[in-house]
Amino acid sequence: MADEMGKFSLMLSGEPISSGVAIGEAFIFRHIHLDALEKIRFPIDDTLKEFERLEGVVMVTVTQLREIIEQKNLSGAVSEIFQVQLRILQDAGFLQELKSMLDTQKVNIEYVLFNQIKKIEEKFNSLENELLRTRFLDIQDVYYRILRNCLEIEHVRSNPFKRLQSPVIFIAQTLLPSDLALLDHSKLLGILIEEGSSVSHVAIIAKMLGIPAIIKIPGISSIVRAHDTVIMDAIKGAIILNPSESAIGSYTQIERGIFSTQTKIVKRRKFAECATRDGVPVTLEANIGSLKEAHEALDCGAAGIGLLRSELFYLSQPERPTIEEEFDFYAKVLSLFKNRPVTIRLLDLGADKSLPYLGSFEEENPQLGIRGIRYLFRNRDLFHHHLKSVMRTSAMGTVRMLIPFVAMEDDVTQALREIDAVRIQEHVDPGGLHVGIMAEVPSVALSIGRFWRYVDFVNIGTNDLAQYLFAASREDGNVERYRQTSHPVILKLLADCAASGKRVGKSVSVCGELAADPEGALLLVGLGIRLLSMQPSSIPLVRKAVNESSMKDLRRMAKKALAYID
Ligand code: PEP
Ligand code: MG
Repeated sequence: MADEMGKFSLMLSGEPISSGVAIGEAFIFRHIHLDALEKIRFPIDDTLKEFERLEGVVMVTVTQLREIIEQKNLSGAVSEIFQVQLRILQDAGFLQELKSMLDTQKVNIEYVLFNQIKKIEEKFNSLENELLRTRFLDIQDVYYRILRNCLEIEHVRSNPFKRLQSPVIFIAQTLLPSDLALLDHSKLLGILIEEGSSVSHVAIIAKMLGIPAIIKIPGISSIVRAHDTVIMDAIKGAIILNPSESAIGSYTQIERGIFSTQTKIVKRRKFAECATRDGVPVTLEANIGSLKEAHEALDCGAAGIGLLRSELFYLSQPERPTIEEEFDFYAKVLSLFKNRPVTIRLLDLGADKSLPYLGSFEEENPQLGIRGIRYLFRNRDLFHHHLKSVMRTSAMGTVRMLIPFVAMEDDVTQALREIDAVRIQEHVDPGGLHVGIMAEVPSVALSIGRFWRYVDFVNIGTNDLAQYLFAASREDGNVERYRQTSHPVILKLLADCAASGKRVGKSVSVCGELAADPEGALLLVGLGIRLLSMQPSSIPLVRKAVNESSMKDLRRMAKKALAYID
């Protein structure tokens, strides 16, 4: 039905990944790939007019950069990055060089700019010094900003939220964790993504922030227009565009209702033992990435923190945190959990999680590239800085240090050498440190017995394990059907890992999304896993499911699932 503005009410659906209801104005974010500009080349007769167009765009870009620099809460280091970009534009030679290229080539300015940045990139790539090489990113950023302005495109790095007075429903075709981290979260009512995947890091961050989010909504980014009113029901996965007054009225009631029920649920939750009906204890811990989630974990009765994704703390900061700031964050979590264990996973950066203040690099296939421990080996200064913060917390309670994305024994021995070097510098007692690895790369899960000589515990990441076993990217919703975390192939591997840990008397836990699903959790217990870590809100549900089951039934269920590959 059309309203008086001629707008049609339309219902769409998708997959909810972070629960809640939101009503608000649409904000459309388009992520464009500027690489296409390499092929868009057309002749220009009036080069003077084209140059004037460039001058105008550069003026707009200068204004944007000044606005960013003048923001009150911008730290010194971040401001310096944009000051450098501003100086590049204000250099008299900058426009002069582009003008002479335009005069000789006589083609559109976008093509000239794009080729110029490619040439600069080649020059920087040949430099020996890594730090200087990464400086290219700042130059690329400013060229890309000019190009986006030529094409009149909004982008996260153009700070589009700045001009918004009130919060919005953010709509995008795709979204990266680093983009999400750059946005002002207080202005996000909800997130709607056309593509996406439920185990992507964007999904994990949205849940962490408590922002309702829905993914896999075909065509939404082209159907919705900026400022359209949107109702998103991230409980059912429904989206109503330009809703009627009565729909807005009833959803407003639901929205209020959810808040009051959530408060009641939280108040009812207390720490309680978890065991099967026949008395087999199962430990339920929480996956967290922020202090807010640490509080939630406590409210939901977590027995400890099974996975603290330290990179999410880094992603939430405007610049690299100091050792003290990082330590302070961990110390707050530890003091909440007093004598319960806290597992701090070392930074799992790389792949889809890059930090705007650390610079990034191009990779053919980032999910198979410099990620996790590989990233830390490549950035030793960051690695040691980070280790110092984690190390200092070990005196405050039981801290388990978890090494991400291990693929070979050599990764562990090298990481242990670095950990030991920092431990000695920091005068930390080796007895107080518990070190473990993530088993999320098949090569490790398949040879777990080789790793016990180095580590105290193993934590299995089924999100990545499924991505790598089935060759199906976790960021790509189109291949979701391949990424079956409860497929017998994975279950067999988990059962073998659990048995291996039992033989040597060391802990094997699971912290992937499979553990957060009550049915998945029951399978895991049946397979011999006794420690599960999950998003805080899943703990009460999983506890209830375990408490109501008998070990005998769970073993039978697991055996039946495994029979498929025997
Ligand atoms: C996993 O891979 O299953 C995991 C828990 O880690 P993350 O989702 O942070 O990669
Ligand atoms: Mg992982």
